[in-house]
Amino acid sequence: MSCIFCRIVSGEIPSRTVSETDLAVAFMDAFPLAPGHTLVVPREHRRRMQDMTAPEVADVFGLAARLASKTDSLAGSTLLAVHNGPGAGQEVPHVHVHLVPRRDGDGAGPIHSMFGGAVRMSDRESEDMLKALRT
Ligand code: 5GP
Ligand code: ZN
Repeated sequence: MSCIFCRIVSGEIPSRTVSETDLAVAFMDAFPLAPGHTLVVPREHRRRMQDMTAPEVADVFGLAARLASKTDSLAGSTLLAVHNGPGAGQEVPHVHVHLVPRRDGDGAGPIHSMFGGAVRMSDRESEDMLKALRT
């Protein structure tokens, strides 16, 4: 088993476990972007969100939602993020939801700051994209 998060879930590699359910585990990120940075993962190895079963989705996001109220109460706000695939920045190929506590004035921007700005799309392009997204 080479996946680092599978090894954490099995207990082979130590981690600071925050919370557990039947299908999901939350543990502290070893290289936190802010105090309290937490990861929520399915127990089973799933590469992308769409590979999870519906009960796994419910456990992973249910646990993330419960933890968000905790991180909100500690820092004020929380950034929740999933890098779904390497092109989106995923380094560990096992689904994980990042919860990064955010404070006023912490210097990190919104998701929009990752991009140069909005892309221009014609009505035709938007309609074509809508069709592609719906099918
Ligand atoms: P990604 O870039 O794949 O979305 O995020 C992977 C995350 O896993 C990073 O935030 C990184 O700090 C965290 N991480 C990598 N290795 C370990 C580890 O061995 N233990 C823990 N707790 N976190 C890890
Ligand atoms: Zn894994």
